[in-house]
Amino acid sequence: MICGGAGTRAKPDAPGPAGCRIVEWEVGESARLWVCVNAGFAGARVLSVAEVTLRVVMVTQAYRFALDPTPAQQRALCSHAGAARFAWNWGLAACSDRYDAESKWWSGVELHRLWNQIKRTDPGLGWWSENSKCVYQEAFRDLDRALREFVRSRNGSRKGRRLGFPRFKKRGRCRDSFRFGAGVMRCGGRTVTLPRLGTIATHESTRKLARRLENGTARILSATVSRTAHRWHVSFTVQVDRAIPERHARPGSVVGVDLGIKMLVTAVDDQGVVTEIAGPKALRAGLRKLARLGKAHSRKQRGSGNRAKAAARLARHHARVADIRADALHKATGMLAARYETVVVEDLNVTGMVANRRLARAVADQGFGAARRMLECKTGWNGGRLVVADRWFPSSKTCSGCGGRKPSLVLSERTYRCEVCGLVLGRDVNAAINLRELAASGAERQNACGGDVRPGPAGQPPAKQEPGTAVTAGQTGTAAAQATATPTADTHFRSHYG
Ligand SMILES: [Zn+2]
Repeated sequence: MICGGAGTRAKPDAPGPAGCRIVEWEVGESARLWVCVNAGFAGARVLSVAEVTLRVVMVTQAYRFALDPTPAQQRALCSHAGAARFAWNWGLAACSDRYDAESKWWSGVELHRLWNQIKRTDPGLGWWSENSKCVYQEAFRDLDRALREFVRSRNGSRKGRRLGFPRFKKRGRCRDSFRFGAGVMRCGGRTVTLPRLGTIATHESTRKLARRLENGTARILSATVSRTAHRWHVSFTVQVDRAIPERHARPGSVVGVDLGIKMLVTAVDDQGVVTEIAGPKALRAGLRKLARLGKAHSRKQRGSGNRAKAAARLARHHARVADIRADALHKATGMLAARYETVVVEDLNVTGMVANRRLARAVADQGFGAARRMLECKTGWNGGRLVVADRWFPSSKTCSGCGGRKPSLVLSERTYRCEVCGLVLGRDVNAAINLRELAASGAERQNACGGDVRPGPAGQPPAKQEPGTAVTAGQTGTAAAQATATPTADTHFRSHYG
């Protein structure tokens, strides 16, 4: 699960998760500390002080950094990306040939063995040694996975859209990307070191990961290098020892969150406090520029140098918009996970909404799917939990005052007016209150650890709920947290909700 974000420092007197301050620290299976929840907004007030027991849990997460390569390093990066592309195409051709003859293809390991034989004998492949041998191996692994997933999709054992057969990659048409699965991978304060490529300067500080590597709370598993528009990035897959509080710093706090189009986030908590966060509307703000760049691009002659330059400008603008959006989402979701133990969101049908063209731009701009994934990770890291309401839960159509339900509600109606009790409330606020109440009612009716909180029809089977675990079946917040959960954490949770 890729979520980025700050790591926990295993040192006394250092800021811990979610703005907490670690006073006492013991490295062991569990550590005790004092935390002072200071959510860092709304005048930075101190909300509560509590003693919390930490549980150290192994989490796999990604750390992604923008690179600042020298021209020579840039050429080496392009060369490696080309090598990965060549290996993929070579492997795919070999698999297709074998499939035509024997109705089966090569596995990733077999492809690697074949490649090792042929690369020394074929004079046309003499350039292979200019790039790290890892790159070829990882490309074969990717191809192997793509073929397997294709088969799984065809049998119907894979969820989601049907996958096609893997296709050949073409320079300039595919994503430039390659991976190192082994070798020297290091990370200094402002540099990263990769096999074969050596030490490359980074565009941003890598201290958060470097410090973890230094004190031994992180281990790099692999490094994927890729290019987005003009910029190269490295994404380290890292196994991190994360200190997760057994209980959230504000036990019992609940918030209902409505992800919206007008407002990025409308949240109503158990105290009735309404928090509204306006999205940066990055795409809309940059829309005029995007339109201008797009028009300029389409007016250039096909295949010309000027068209390539215009395409690069357009791609840069798209990448910038995506960065602004991700930043806003990380800040909003981080705040919610730090302040509230239980976060309730709606399971929005993002694919269906994007298919609706009038909604598409606004929805894609706000990144609903990304927000859900971030909340899943971050609630787990803070000792909280994410409750996902059923897709058919009528959060907008239900009156939060009397529970009456409207048969229909047009999207343009921004204010909810109840005909039964006369309640007049903002549409998003009403929806957020309904979501918040969903968590409370579910916990009252059934044991929070064993029941189904979603009363709606066609729900998924009940999933066991524990702190640090997303509720929707098949989607785990922090898998490791569940595995190492201690009985005390469980009883804690039950005593509060049960
Ligand atoms: Zn009403």
